[in-house]
Amino acid sequence: MESHPVDTRGRGLRDLRISVTDRCNFRCVYCMPKSVFGAAYRFLDRKELLTFEEIAHIARAFVANGVSKLRITGGEPLVRRQIEHLIASLASIEGVTDLSLTTNGALLTAKRAAALKAAGLTRITVSLDSLDDALFKQINDVKFPVEQVLEGIANAAAVGLGPIKVNMVVKRGMNEHEVVPMAERFRGTPHILRFIEFMDVGTTNGWRLEDVMSASEIINAINAVHPLEPIGANYQSEVAKRWRYRDGAGELGVISSVSQPFCGACTRARLSAEGQVYTCLFAQSGHDFRTLVRDDPARLTAAVARLWRARDDRYSEIRTFETHRLVEFGPKIEMSYIGG
Ligand code: SAM
Ligand code: SF4
Ligand code: SF4
Repeated sequence: MESHPVDTRGRGLRDLRISVTDRCNFRCVYCMPKSVFGAAYRFLDRKELLTFEEIAHIARAFVANGVSKLRITGGEPLVRRQIEHLIASLASIEGVTDLSLTTNGALLTAKRAAALKAAGLTRITVSLDSLDDALFKQINDVKFPVEQVLEGIANAAAVGLGPIKVNMVVKRGMNEHEVVPMAERFRGTPHILRFIEFMDVGTTNGWRLEDVMSASEIINAINAVHPLEPIGANYQSEVAKRWRYRDGAGELGVISSVSQPFCGACTRARLSAEGQVYTCLFAQSGHDFRTLVRDDPARLTAAVARLWRARDDRYSEIRTFETHRLVEFGPKIEMSYIGG
């Protein structure tokens, strides 16, 4: 058997993130601001989206090239109808050891959580940026209450989709004062809170370096109240740096893609809802796999290998204010399109 491809920096291909829709029922101010994603915004047409069969076909080609972890994302993946069917078909691919999904939790009813679990989902990540109801409603910008997201987390835990990761994007001036309350809410629970540095994804979220609360600032703020110590990574390409409470109240993670980039261990590819493959979250262009899967599916596996062998990306390592200005040469891909 031919060995799996490595890229030009010696990195293997292990993870595939699959965006199943560019639509969302939230309008988080840092991700899909209403000023851009309003009534006039043109989302992808139904016929532009990959079908579940096409997604599974492409996923199999990635698994044949070394991928064992799949994550479903969006937009909001739970707004795509019958997503459980896709989950069942991805779960049946031999070689997939981990199948997870990232959601804002709004549609995570007890019934939906049970259906996701029954379809073969192994884990779930729920995003939550604040416990303060008024602030959270302002951030999601559709007045969605905190309590319902907490219920979604509980529903997922009840059916065995845990340990649940809870993602909090921290943006200075937006929710930095919620870092310690969030830590305290999830301390002593089986859920793992992960703080994400605000990233310069896309071109519509008005990113400025000074808005980033760095991982070390986040850790310092929590450590001052509840002492922490670092713990090792679960696996080499793990993006979150892990910390545990010295008093045994559990662990948390920080994803420091801005202040401490981890491109050297990045083994991840991304598939957009319309079938573009990206080898970096900050890529300016993708590779068309929709045409391939529709016209010449027999070539998919070789196409993945070729694409990966040519990969050179390390955006976060070379990010500066200058590289941010690269937007002048063409827009980067939006987070709601590629899914994080
Ligand atoms: N809608 C789902 C959700 O919110 O979990 C899945 C898609 S969302 C794009 C995936 C993750 O990306 C969320 O945790 C979200 O908070 C995060 N995210 C969006 N924009 C971001 C940014 N500019 N910097 C860092 N994280 C961001
Ligand atoms: Fe939607 Fe997730 Fe983006 Fe919020 S972060 S607007 S929930 S895709
Ligand atoms: Fe991977 Fe690109 Fe992020 Fe670096 S910047 S860690 S290469 S996705």
